[in-house]
Amino acid sequence: MDSLPIDPQAWDRWILSQRPDLSEYRRSLDPHQAARWMVEEELQADGRLATGVTLFLTNRECPWRCLMCDLWRETISRKIPPGAVLDQIDRALRQTPPAEWIKLYNAGSFFDAGAIPTTDLPGIARRVQPFRRLIVECHPTLVGPRVVEFRARLETTHLEVALGLESSHPEVLQRLNKGMTVDDFRHAAGFLVEAGIQVRAFVLVKPPFQSDQEALDWALRTTEVAFAAGASVVSLIPTRAGNGALDTLRARGLFAEPKLDLLESVMERALAKPRGRVFADVWDLERFHQGPDLPARQARLERANRTQHWSGL
Ligand code: SF4
Repeated sequence: MDSLPIDPQAWDRWILSQRPDLSEYRRSLDPHQAARWMVEEELQADGRLATGVTLFLTNRECPWRCLMCDLWRETISRKIPPGAVLDQIDRALRQTPPAEWIKLYNAGSFFDAGAIPTTDLPGIARRVQPFRRLIVECHPTLVGPRVVEFRARLETTHLEVALGLESSHPEVLQRLNKGMTVDDFRHAAGFLVEAGIQVRAFVLVKPPFQSDQEALDWALRTTEVAFAAGASVVSLIPTRAGNGALDTLRARGLFAEPKLDLLESVMERALAKPRGRVFADVWDLERFHQGPDLPARQARLERANRTQHWSGL
């Protein structure tokens, strides 16, 4: 594919070596304070729009080194102490408005015992009881009985687990350094669906090493794979530079951020074959398109997220 390191450990080291130095900022993060939170509306499975809150928990760094990941920016270099996540949730929920659902994203895997201490799980389950739905992220290879045990603590709150499938292109997925295969994703999704837990899949739009046409084809194929494996939601994530590794690949002509047209094409075509809800990530769209028509095009994508229909401008 290119002259970059092939050996997985060397590839890991190369990805790490490209990172900008954010050590001072990362040292300033407080393990008892969520990095940030946001409120958004999302279309539910029953067709309603419902308000939810997303907490970006401060956590230790994920043990994987995915090529496209920049979540390490808001992590600390040590394990966080037991109880710290509970403090983060309590503090954040004192400020957030009433909401129907909650996402707890920890820049890694919620079911990684090194990230979220096992002793905190009962306390988390109690804190999310007022919400109808809890969404957490997990690496597919960490999906197992721990998820089912946690779900049993949730009583009336429904659990949804977000899994990064990223790309079903086997070589690209390997190069993304996710440490999993498409079959790992299928296995994890099948396990969750069997246990009555909903699955959300993240799909990258234009990962490195793909032309625009390949990116369109593979984002749609990956969306199909996710739904076929049991996902009820697919989130389309335009791949963003800025983590060091992608910037280097861009300079070498091996990566380019997707244009807004490409994200729109993927969304339009994915919605034309409804298998579940598809959401386009509309954050920071001005980096993918500059022009006076951006507000109208952003509004169309947001409308598509809410209605699951593609419309004119
Ligand atoms: S598994 Fe997720 S959080 Fe961890 S490095 Fe990969 S993309 Fe980032």
